Amino acid sequence: MSGQAVTSGRCLCGDIRYEYVGAPDRLFHCHCDSCRRHGSSAVATFACVFRDAFRFTQGTPGIYESSPGVRRSFCPRCGSPIAYEADRIPNEVHLYHGTLADPGLVPPTAHVHVAEQLAWFEVLDELPRYSEGMRGASPIGHGPRRT
Ligand SMILES: [Zn+2]
Ligand SMILES: [Zn+2]
Repeated sequence: MSGQAVTSGRCLCGDIRYEYVGAPDRLFHCHCDSCRRHGSSAVATFACVFRDAFRFTQGTPGIYESSPGVRRSFCPRCGSPIAYEADRIPNEVHLYHGTLADPGLVPPTAHVHVAEQLAWFEVLDELPRYSEGMRGASPIGHGPRRT
């Protein structure tokens, strides 16, 4: 992996810091209820990086097992959500996009779990929208709801 860009990230207070090498595998907005609650926000945006290319460089996140085999981590000091990890996708760490050093550099490319999207919330992009997860699925459309 030498020669590839290293991207860093951190929580609000800076106690938790990480870095990954290379480009994220996937970038998406998740509209599911669990991500909404963990992030306390209408939508949660993730940069999914390969586990082999990722490491924490400072601090140890707290972990909440939100369902069997699903771990959601956070900074024990400032409370920032850090990552989503699941046994069913062992090769990826899904980082909360807002923790990236420069979130502007890697824009999301999809919306997932739009079946749970809030009625009053919309994003005016033309990205593919998936009813549930995107792995092995086809998008139900592109762009905002038009009803
Ligand atoms: Zn913190
Ligand atoms: Zn979600």
